[in-house]
Amino acid sequence: FREKEHSAKSESLTRDGCRVLISANIEREDEAVMARDCGAQGIGLYRTEYLFAEYQHLPSEEEQYDSYRKVLKAFDGEATIIRTFDLGGDKQFFRFRKIEEENPFLGFRGIRISLRHEQLFRTQLRALYRASVFGNLHVLFPMINSCEEIQRILDIIGEVKDQLRQERMKYSDHVKLGVLIETPASSFLIDDFSRQVDFFSIGTNDLLQFILAVDRNNPYISDSYNVFHPAIFRSISKIVDRVHQNGRWVSICGEMASNPLVTPVLLGFGITRLSLSPPLIPRIKKVIRGMNLSGARILADKIMRLSKSDEIRKLLEDFQRKCIIDREVADEVPPLRC
Ligand code: PEP
Ligand code: MG
Repeated sequence: FREKEHSAKSESLTRDGCRVLISANIEREDEAVMARDCGAQGIGLYRTEYLFAEYQHLPSEEEQYDSYRKVLKAFDGEATIIRTFDLGGDKQFFRFRKIEEENPFLGFRGIRISLRHEQLFRTQLRALYRASVFGNLHVLFPMINSCEEIQRILDIIGEVKDQLRQERMKYSDHVKLGVLIETPASSFLIDDFSRQVDFFSIGTNDLLQFILAVDRNNPYISDSYNVFHPAIFRSISKIVDRVHQNGRWVSICGEMASNPLVTPVLLGFGITRLSLSPPLIPRIKKVIRGMNLSGARILADKIMRLSKSDEIRKLLEDFQRKCIIDREVADEVPPLRC
């Protein structure tokens, strides 16, 4: 048990000293403490739409405030990324908005619902800003496709803050705003979005289904939902480059972040933040502690030149076998620091 605990709490440094921040994806506020115990260094994605499932009604400002405050307090000062409601698609919790759509994943979902039902959005933003005094709040917006959507969000936030000031309610001046990159359109607009927001997170679950045009929940084509497809790696590499060129930071919060085969190439692309389901954190930390960033960079260059998924998968498997030091040994030999 002690070994397990040590492995969860230890830092995630590669053997040649690159620090990677590992945070947690959660769906309920009570998971925040569990995430901390699993070794999370903050929350990388709180999927707030699950509040609708929890309450079975539209969560009030007070109910939301309470939930966001608890999550922020669980992580003393560490970045806590709370995503605004990502209703619709496969998350049809909001009973009165349940509508018939031919393509729900391409339909009325995420920020599209929030900007159409502005009062719902304003209530959520009020709760978020009121809770912001309890920690290091980062707000993330889902399914963003355009600068106009971001501009509208910024205008609404300005009005919400004015209103809170008039009511003499406190909020932090240090809230950071970010965009979830999960549509091809958004991946082409990083330079533009960088003028509007502070950070990015790559939602690989949706990004994969949209780049490959493969429904992520359709069992008939699950083979085609292929995480090793070369287009996925090229797309992520480009996104990371553009984000860094613009002096912003980026995290990965889709399931790819918890795939140990893929971890080295993501680090090789320059990713230093991953967010994943809490129970999977110790495993990914061990992979990181057992590898060298220098080797991962060479791996990433090679992957960018491959055209076939099978070749990519094989290269990643070879890297795992040959270049990642056995987990137990990795725990005993402390990594270099630089
Ligand atoms: C994603 O699309 O990768 C993501 C993190 O969002 P969700 O899985 O909640 O759609
Ligand atoms: Mg998504």
